[in-house]
Amino acid sequence: MLRIVLAVAAVSIVLILVFVANSPSPGAGSRSAAPAGRTRIVPALVAPEDFQYDMDKKLLATLDLALQVPTAELAGFLKPIVDDVTTRRLRLDGVEVTAEQFPDHPELHAMVGDCAGILHVKKAFHVFVKNDSSIDAYTTNVSEPAIVLCSGLVSACSPEEIRFVIGHEMGHIVCNHVLWLSVVRELVESLKTDGFVKEAIVSGALLAVAEWSKQAEISADRAGLLCVQDLDVCEQALVRLASGLTERVLGRINVDAFLEQSEMKTGSVASAMVYLDELRQSHPFVSDRIKNLRDFYKSEQYSKILQ
Ligand SMILES: [Zn+2]
Repeated sequence: MLRIVLAVAAVSIVLILVFVANSPSPGAGSRSAAPAGRTRIVPALVAPEDFQYDMDKKLLATLDLALQVPTAELAGFLKPIVDDVTTRRLRLDGVEVTAEQFPDHPELHAMVGDCAGILHVKKAFHVFVKNDSSIDAYTTNVSEPAIVLCSGLVSACSPEEIRFVIGHEMGHIVCNHVLWLSVVRELVESLKTDGFVKEAIVSGALLAVAEWSKQAEISADRAGLLCVQDLDVCEQALVRLASGLTERVLGRINVDAFLEQSEMKTGSVASAMVYLDELRQSHPFVSDRIKNLRDFYKSEQYSKILQ
């Protein structure tokens, strides 16, 4: 916790430098259609606190406090040089997910509306598909979020797996992760290109925010599960992120065997080195994400939201 407070000062400075340099909700309690005759529950009311991971809440509050500037004010200040520029680029180079732009597959746009309804998303946001072979998606901007679905992800995943990913990204929006996620992403990008001194500063800042961002991913996975309401689908989506394989290539992946593989013992030096590596990672290991999601699926917290 202390590490976060100390390092966040560096984040505040790096934040500005890095940004500049790199410069329909369904009715309450209703049900939405789902494949294979299933119905999905649309909770009458769900607040982010109902599913947000505790450590995410605590660390996010610490980051906000240490910033010493209200995040809404900072986001408003950065909007013209971050959101407006990024959204403009996406409009020129990506395809926005609207019913008009994908007339042969209106289900993608409908899926966005379904997820927004389940999570009661109030904030304005945009969703784009971008030409990028990575099996990946992310939420960008600081004030008016834009969800970016990489074309590699859309090609590799089943429609229900895409729903999990969209729900995950919307979880970031409702949990107010967007500004700090953009900070994490910009820091990670900066590490790839900067010199030694700047790398040291950026690394320190990244250590602080990466600890939070790993917890934030757990909250977002929970939001994805709430949107899909099928644990198996969510697990398949997560292992697909780990393997990079499409269902067409190797079919389903045995998730229990995958988790067993992650439990296999290694030497203490290797474990320590991997732990150090993980400190600067923005996402938890996929095996840990699956275990966390299984715990949430079995929890009273989950069943209470969907009762
Ligand atoms: Zn995420």
